[in-house]
Amino acid sequence: MTIPFNKPYLPLVSLKYMVQAARSGTIAGNGKYTELCHRFFEERFGFRKVLLTTSCTDAMEMASILSNIQPGNEVILPSFTFMSAANAFLLRGAKLVFSDTLADVPNIDPVQVEQLITPATRVIVVAHYSGLACEMDRIMELAARHNLLVVEDAAHAIESYYKDEPLGSIGHLGTFSFHETKNIISGEGGMLAVNYKPFLERAEIIWEKGTNRAAFHRGEVDKYGWVDIGSSFLPSDALAAFLYAQIKRFRKIQRKRKWSWWEYHEQLLPLEEKGYLTRPVIPQFATVNGNMFYITLPDKARRDALLHNLNQHGIQAVFHYFPLHSSHYFRDKHDGRELPNTDRFSDTLLRLPFFYKLKQKEIEYIVKTTGEFFQ
Ligand SMILES: *Cc1c(COP(=O)(O)O)cnc(C)c1O
Repeated sequence: MTIPFNKPYLPLVSLKYMVQAARSGTIAGNGKYTELCHRFFEERFGFRKVLLTTSCTDAMEMASILSNIQPGNEVILPSFTFMSAANAFLLRGAKLVFSDTLADVPNIDPVQVEQLITPATRVIVVAHYSGLACEMDRIMELAARHNLLVVEDAAHAIESYYKDEPLGSIGHLGTFSFHETKNIISGEGGMLAVNYKPFLERAEIIWEKGTNRAAFHRGEVDKYGWVDIGSSFLPSDALAAFLYAQIKRFRKIQRKRKWSWWEYHEQLLPLEEKGYLTRPVIPQFATVNGNMFYITLPDKARRDALLHNLNQHGIQAVFHYFPLHSSHYFRDKHDGRELPNTDRFSDTLLRLPFFYKLKQKEIEYIVKTTGEFFQ
């Protein structure tokens, strides 16, 4: 049996919507399907305003511009994450200050964040790893006390909650990804959620190359022009149409993905009880959104050996992240602090195959193969 790490769910109806978008004669950005997607996310999750982008990385660049980062401003962010936020803030001249994660959950440690705040700090970026919420009350309280902005990297976190609040709606800004490895997809794609009222107008302008075209579109101004900095962050309406097909199946996709998550969770319990591995720790304020399933092993040697063994059995398990603070690009720019929890997650975490059409018997085979490895 060969089980890939990811298998993008591509319902045929995506093509129907894309053809409809093309037939309408306008497939540039901010068309009918873009609007339908925007409406869905705003109504379903109560985001004040959302803007589809060509990636989560792009949404993060918009967040960086909106934060008005000036050279030398400091941004606190996790080291155990993808490099999108780091790049986005570096491009605006920020100084990156990496925080460690908690010991039991690969999410940013609010205690360390507090220690890292200086008069130069402007932004805290949190990433809700695998859709499990960060401790947002503590982060938002720190931000309020020190007058900082909070950006939630919610790339993993669509339809996940902190207490009763949707992730991505709590910070001033939230960024989402529709890359083919995420819950709902458009190949490449993303979204910025703008929750902070003073950013609403400027977000639209940055989105469309620094112009007030969106306001023009609504008839609010009688001509449009260049009014601010920006870039071309909006996707073609053909891609929004592709995404809309996923949105139409959102409930079904999520139901299945959550089912798979809990199936892994339940089937792996006996191996956890024997001390072979640890399943994800779900904080009491967090929910599961079926983004990915990961386990951690007692040490790197066992993680690497299990990874190799699963691969040998046709199971494409993978690991990540290489810590950003010790990456090839950043290690000589880092301030030298050790981030032991980050290093440990990087060394011991293993991601198991996870996708919409993952079958029960595939999960059983993966769990059985994992169990046999420890015999
Ligand atoms: C996937 C991912 C991103 C990047 O998303 P793109 O849409 O590919 O730019 C950013 N942050 C995290 C945590 C991710 O997992």
